[in-house]
Amino acid sequence: TRQWQLASRPVGEPTHENFELVTVDRPEPDANEVLVRTLYQSVDPYMRGRMRDAESYAEPWDVGDPMKANVVGEVLESNASAFEEGDVVTGDLYWAEHAVASADELQPVNPDHGPISTALGVLGMPGVTAYWGLNDVCDPIPGDTVVVSAAAGAVGSVVGQLAKLSGARVVGTAGSEAKVDWLTEDLGFDAAINYKETNDLSGAIDEACPNGVDVYFDNVGGPITDAVWPRLNLDARVAVCGQIALYNETSVPTGPRKLTKLIETRATVEGLLVSDYQPRWGEALGRLSTFIQNDDVRYRENVVEGFENAPDAFLGLFEGENIGKQVVQVAEY
Ligand code: NDP
Repeated sequence: TRQWQLASRPVGEPTHENFELVTVDRPEPDANEVLVRTLYQSVDPYMRGRMRDAESYAEPWDVGDPMKANVVGEVLESNASAFEEGDVVTGDLYWAEHAVASADELQPVNPDHGPISTALGVLGMPGVTAYWGLNDVCDPIPGDTVVVSAAAGAVGSVVGQLAKLSGARVVGTAGSEAKVDWLTEDLGFDAAINYKETNDLSGAIDEACPNGVDVYFDNVGGPITDAVWPRLNLDARVAVCGQIALYNETSVPTGPRKLTKLIETRATVEGLLVSDYQPRWGEALGRLSTFIQNDDVRYRENVVEGFENAPDAFLGLFEGENIGKQVVQVAEY
């Protein structure tokens, strides 16, 4: 069986040289363990942080070790009473075609409830991030203007639709015309800005947010955040979810200097980490599945086929290649 290992630590933008595909013996499950065949593997922006040898909210990977990832897979062998052969499960496993896990590291996935890959996206970690990040941290109310960056991504696309459901005016930023069209034509965003084609980002934000910004859900940081900042309203709420524009920087760029804006607006800026919502995970997933069934929330997945293409799928996140959740299909279900 094959697995991807961290071959070296990237400096700046990661490249293929940082990954090595190796063939290893298929692992054998011990007592209370399960052998899982990976069907879908997630690639996520936070993995860039784990490639770095620095303390952060997720532990760094060691060079020469298999890399971890959320996967959806099929149980091939079970020594645990909770699972039987053929069950579909999800868990934090590896960039690997097969993995062994203890029963308490896995959750069941019901294939009758929709495509199983959604357990990595809208009905998984990114969906929960969007749900609690918006509702717990930002608390949008009808009439608010909500801006979300990386709006056509896994987290951002859900944030924007949930903000619409709460009665807000919703504006997204994204990196292509196809993304802008998806946001405004399919997902009900009031406006979307293609930041790659705009040479006056501040002007574009002004135009899309004539009443200023009450909530900013930040997935990217950098110039987009700089452009939103001066438009914050009195009592604005800013959720710092991700800073992907900075993940490949080798030195820390100058931070926001205009902090007087926070005095002027009494705005709240709060970092959020999805793992803190573990106790309320099921509640978010329950609400999201109802929204999906009622067509109140729509989602897309960008499926990269073939385990050998997993690094491409990961690197594509930094190029904005994905519309919706980026997943790798490792095997047929
Ligand atoms: P996405 O599906 O949004 O994919 C990443 C997107 O980021 C790309 O498609 C691209 O879209 C955009 N992007 C990449 N580079 C840049 C750049 N330099 N400037 C602006 N945009 C860029 O990923 P996720 O939805 O999984 O994650 C979104 C963010 O949320 C990430 O920052 C991630 O780290 C964070 N996150 C945080 C969690 C937490 O607990 N705090 C949990 C989950 C995610 P585009 O075409 O618009 O450029």
